[in-house]
Amino acid sequence: MAKEAKKEAEKIDAAAAAKPKEAKKEKKSQKEKPKSKKKHAKVQVWKLYDVKDGKAVRKREKCPRCGPGVFLAAFKKRKYCGKCGWALWQHG
Ligand SMILES: [Zn+2]
Repeated sequence: MAKEAKKEAEKIDAAAAAKPKEAKKEKKSQKEKPKSKKKHAKVQVWKLYDVKDGKAVRKREKCPRCGPGVFLAAFKKRKYCGKCGWALWQHG
């Protein structure tokens, strides 16, 4: 009886081995991504300053969280700090 059980087990193994292998899927290599031709331009901070009477005048508002040196991006309805994410909505 034990022999038969063993034979049965072998059959199952054989069936598992005979399983058709899944068709090989061609993997698209991730290296083929087109690189953007734009190079990262440095932030032109000097554009945000004006010189009046020998003093530097900031054209943009500074970030209340980051302090002076970090300016807020001004949108139509919103001011946003790109460094810390601080935002101010202007309603109306
Ligand atoms: Zn900030």
